Amino acid sequence: MQKYWGVIFALVLLGACKEDKSTLVQNEEAKVAQVETPVITHFGFNLDEFKVKRDTVKRGDSFGELMLENKVDYPKIAKISEDFKDTFDVRKIRVGKPYLILKSKDTTEKAEVFIYENDPINYTVVDFRDSVLAYKRKKEVKYVEREASGVIETSLSEAILDQGIDYNVTNNLSEIYAWTIDFFRLQKGDKFKVIYKEKYINDSIYAGAGPIEAAYFEHNGRPVYAFAYENDSLKGGVIDYYDEEANNLRRTFLRAPVKFSRISSRYNLKRRIRYYGYKVRPHKGTDYAAPIGTPIMATADGTVVESTRRGGNGKFVKIRHNGTYSTQYLHMKAQNVKKGDYVRQGDIIGWIGMTGNTGGPHVCYRFWKNGKQVDPLKEDLPLAEPLDEKLRPDYFAYINPLKDQLDCIAYPEKIEEDLLTLNEIDGTK
Ligand SMILES: [Zn+2]
Repeated sequence: MQKYWGVIFALVLLGACKEDKSTLVQNEEAKVAQVETPVITHFGFNLDEFKVKRDTVKRGDSFGELMLENKVDYPKIAKISEDFKDTFDVRKIRVGKPYLILKSKDTTEKAEVFIYENDPINYTVVDFRDSVLAYKRKKEVKYVEREASGVIETSLSEAILDQGIDYNVTNNLSEIYAWTIDFFRLQKGDKFKVIYKEKYINDSIYAGAGPIEAAYFEHNGRPVYAFAYENDSLKGGVIDYYDEEANNLRRTFLRAPVKFSRISSRYNLKRRIRYYGYKVRPHKGTDYAAPIGTPIMATADGTVVESTRRGGNGKFVKIRHNGTYSTQYLHMKAQNVKKGDYVRQGDIIGWIGMTGNTGGPHVCYRFWKNGKQVDPLKEDLPLAEPLDEKLRPDYFAYINPLKDQLDCIAYPEKIEEDLLTLNEIDGTK
């Protein structure tokens, strides 16, 4: 009997997730397209009608000289630099920017159109054919929804790169989960799934990952869903991430004052140090090791109550967040705030250094609760404002299909076997 249930359950799952297969196939196709992209962008011109010269602006290039070389009359060049300054400031062409010169196909090879790519999306056209003309245009940008998943072997960024996913997705994931998951203690076997958008220009040129729409992260066997939702339509575009029960994923404090570092020493009241003859020297902070100059962030909004240099603490900043909590950041190379400043969560308040008593570059992060130093990694930190009751019905209706979609994303097959085969082929170990 139990067997039957197993079969039925599997069938139901398959049914619910069927649609997903086609999306996966699309993903594969998109990846292939992305690699090939020999694309000729037209910028509104049929390039076959011209002799096309593509190049980038080199040091010392001037628009005037480039055009003179390509047989544009001086008065036309002068007209562009005078009459179209607002559209195209010829003095501001920048080294490294790509441009196209469309030349006549006859023997004169006279430049007829100059196209300057301001950035991957915006470009400027200078048309010399009749009376001189300059105008700005945008390439068509499309968003394509993508799904991705991974199982952590060594690190999140590696799991993401292994899947060929944009690096920005790592960044965005760690920001979404900065309050709920301790990214310094990710474990082998932690998993994630993510639905996000990719930007494409003219249907084919990849232009980066957009924001994450929904995600699932399983750390230490504990699942945390995240759904992007505009929590205040009046303010316009205030996006926050909430879980499947509409709890805000943000806490009033960030888990750590630095991005992508490692904890070199945890809060430990019974720490013994050889240097002191193994006597107990409590460590009332959490040390985050990172290279000198790494930005240190305020973990919550508050007022700077100290920004000074003193003894073993070296250069430090202390922030009072409210009547209960204060935080302190030691051994800075330099501070970026002064006493009395009001800082927002995530503001850079200084940089990692080695001032005071320290064996290597790190920030000693101290967390004060009611005047006592406690271990922030063990504190149940207060939640940011929850989703308004009125918005909840709309929220649940919105996330339901997204949650189903997330649940249906499969994890990648283990890649170790592939690596083994590859190694066998090329003979390396
Ligand atoms: Zn410390």
